[in-house]
Amino acid sequence: MNFNSKMKDIKNYEAGKPIELVVREFGIEPKDIIKLASNENPNGCSKKVQDGVSKIISKMALYPDDSMIALKSALSKRFDVGVSNVIIGSGSDQVIEFLIHAKANSESKILMNSITFAMYEIYAKHVGAEILRTSSQEHDLDEFYKIYKEEKPSIIFLCTPNNPTGDAIEATKLFEFLKKIDSDTLVVVDGAYMEYALVKDSSKEVKPKDLVEEFDNVIYLGTFSKAYGLGGMRVGYGVADAKIIKELYKLRPPFNITTLSLEAATIALGDEEFVNKSVVNNFNEMKRYEEFAKEQKIDIINSYTNFVTLCLNPNQISSVIADLLLKKGMIVRDLSSYGMNAIRVTVGTQEQNSRFFELASEIL
Ligand SMILES: *Cc1c(COP(=O)(O)O)cnc(C)c1O
Repeated sequence: MNFNSKMKDIKNYEAGKPIELVVREFGIEPKDIIKLASNENPNGCSKKVQDGVSKIISKMALYPDDSMIALKSALSKRFDVGVSNVIIGSGSDQVIEFLIHAKANSESKILMNSITFAMYEIYAKHVGAEILRTSSQEHDLDEFYKIYKEEKPSIIFLCTPNNPTGDAIEATKLFEFLKKIDSDTLVVVDGAYMEYALVKDSSKEVKPKDLVEEFDNVIYLGTFSKAYGLGGMRVGYGVADAKIIKELYKLRPPFNITTLSLEAATIALGDEEFVNKSVVNNFNEMKRYEEFAKEQKIDIINSYTNFVTLCLNPNQISSVIADLLLKKGMIVRDLSSYGMNAIRVTVGTQEQNSRFFELASEIL
């Protein structure tokens, strides 16, 4: 059968290997497997969320509230924006899908960082758009601007902090950049790890409200999958000018968020103590990774997230190292498909990290 010609160009997203797969492939007991590959919260999720969700479990027969008013109101209060400035997606991934479909087509160009979140490219290819990339590893906004001037992309993606490298853009520089972009270019500020960045260094904090007040061409993305510990519930959101949100709504399938997920996210947003604790633990444990890298004489990128990127030495091939770790039940992310000889490791619990240091020092 022949498919849409754009399909040839699309590669599957390579998700972090699930624990179940390692059990089957290597015959390792699930209890001996540690997954530090998808930047999930190692502390799980808030107990309040678990209690709240179990209370409404009997509501499963009914379709969810498609207005999503409880979660939208909670987000609008949290960020001090209007309800009409918010859209909820099945993960912020789905919001990325909506906005590319709403804004771009096969004649469009989409600009992104040389190394960044893989889903931007995959969704761009859905519509056959041309992908433009900068050359530097970190976001270089001067280079972004230069390419913007020459190529007139219809969408610009800025991921801050960036996945899979963990570095973040200075908020003042970001705003200076946005002021120079014309109002018909959609700029996406993906803040999937913003809850971490703002604690480590407030100069990296980008507030959705500031974006919405100043720009009608910028959308901020956030997710419950990382700091909130709800990766399995699939809830993310976009915050933007109401005119953008209205367009995105045209592409939203009805009931795209389940009743249980809506409840989980709404409660999670209210449990700030859980998030704060997670973030503090994260940076305490991250110090151990910095020490480990020093001991091993490998480079570590200064990270504003819940993962670290270890840039290996030339005699240490990242795909080989990741495979050797996998055979011992330690799942990390090899970044060779991003053109880096590096591995990305999610900062886990104290015990998980200790195990990583033990195995990695044997292997390296
Ligand atoms: C994890 C992540 C997302 C979205 O995750 P969802 O689970 O779909 O909400 C978006 N952007 C970046 C950079 C991420 O790392």
